[in-house]
Amino acid sequence: MIVIMLGAPASGKGTQSVIVAQRLKVPHISTGDIFRWNIANNTAVGEEAKKYIDKGILVPDELTIRILKERIEKEDCERGFVLDGFPRTINQQQSLDRMLTECNKSINMAINLSVTDDEVIRRISGRRMCKCGKAYHIVTYPPKTPGICDLCNGELYTRKDDTVEVANTRLEAYKLQTEPILAVYRERGIVVDIDGHKPQEQVAEDVWKEILKYSEKHGWM
Ligand code: ADP
Ligand code: ZN
Repeated sequence: MIVIMLGAPASGKGTQSVIVAQRLKVPHISTGDIFRWNIANNTAVGEEAKKYIDKGILVPDELTIRILKERIEKEDCERGFVLDGFPRTINQQQSLDRMLTECNKSINMAINLSVTDDEVIRRISGRRMCKCGKAYHIVTYPPKTPGICDLCNGELYTRKDDTVEVANTRLEAYKLQTEPILAVYRERGIVVDIDGHKPQEQVAEDVWKEILKYSEKHGWM
């Protein structure tokens, strides 16, 4: 099963993709996470990607498509995967289609998590991250102990691109470059829209209900 998670920055894509991937027992693939791992480990890919990420603009397609291709060619992706943060341009969307066609696969579903612009900025400006992937908000979703992750006791940090200024650039990039992908997938009838304003647990249930509905209709799983 191949699921694409679409949505503005801080729409809850990351959190929800992890949950869906666990439930479907397939890998969760986040191009943002792959880039951040490369930056943290001082690789050549990381050095290149950092130039763009810190400014809130998209990493060039050539590099992004290459790392994505390498990832989905791994054996653990045989049974499917959940994509988080890819495709983000029409060019990436078309490349993904070509890669999948080559191995007789296709996207089963695209989940669109919708949130308002104001909410995106509010979430990003209060977001705190843990290395384990868990995200918090200093006001609306704080950890039990300030600055410490509930799950792994790790120290929380602020992503460098989580400032209001960079957030606005990211939102703009989303609208100009990523949103047009939705229209392509809508035409195929594979999009489900989910209200991303509800509490995380509720969003997770809404997403799962839609996946089950879709699966039944198409005889998956
Ligand atoms: P968010 O959705 O909150 O912006 P991500 O972790 O998905 O967070 O992405 C962070 C940054 O990584 C993006 O702003 C962009 O610079 C880069 N990035 C991630 N995925 C892609 C992609 N598919 N194409 C180009 N750049 C990407
Ligand atoms: Zn943690």
